[in-house]
Amino acid sequence: MAEPTTNPLKQSRRGVLFVLSSPSGAGKSTIARRILAADQGITMSISATTRPIRPGEVDGVDYHFVSLDQFREMVANEEFLEWAHVFGHRYGTPRAPVDQALAEGRDVLFDIDWQGAQQLFQQAGGDVVRVFILPPSLTELERRLRARATDPEDVIVARMDRAATEIGHWDGYDYVLVNDDVERCFGKVHTILASERLRRSRWTGLIGFVRGMVKGG
Ligand code: 5GP
Repeated sequence: MAEPTTNPLKQSRRGVLFVLSSPSGAGKSTIARRILAADQGITMSISATTRPIRPGEVDGVDYHFVSLDQFREMVANEEFLEWAHVFGHRYGTPRAPVDQALAEGRDVLFDIDWQGAQQLFQQAGGDVVRVFILPPSLTELERRLRARATDPEDVIVARMDRAATEIGHWDGYDYVLVNDDVERCFGKVHTILASERLRRSRWTGLIGFVRGMVKGG
């Protein structure tokens, strides 16, 4: 009988919950965009937030912008996989789209903070891969925040404060990268994703497949 020409394991992989965190200004959004453009197998998780919409943002694309009452109701109905207070507002990851993406065999990309990464890991353990992106230095981070020219001085000072707190949680991540060159950093993040997809533990049909090949198995 002819050997099958397609990989019989293809449909049997557990999805990866791929978390990208960084202080704001470290380049995380650019890298997330590059990953989504380069890879058809991963879907962005769109968070719900109580923070006001910013110019240029689109409801349902950047975030689901909700009122505090709506957010509380979603918490009460256990609609979030995780949620946290960030910068004085609430942010949460809706559970249903993540379940749906995983059921369709897709991986999910999360742009959430260290609190979210921690909660996701508590719930989904080995399915979660946590990547933290560092700026080359705090001086460079401040330069990038100022170059954006979108934030007033007090917001920049608050973001730098918050950056130091976030960087303090670097040891809660599986991978820590320095974004000194966005293309190089993107390449590394994509390599991590590709490697993590190949982990033995994600291939649920592997045992049966290999047993058929092992002598006396
Ligand atoms: P921003 O308001 O600047 O878009 O995001 C502020 C911070 O909130 C970022 O560090 C971002 O990663 C984090 N964040 C966004 N969505 C979520 C979420 O659903 N859960 C958690 N824990 N953090 C989030």
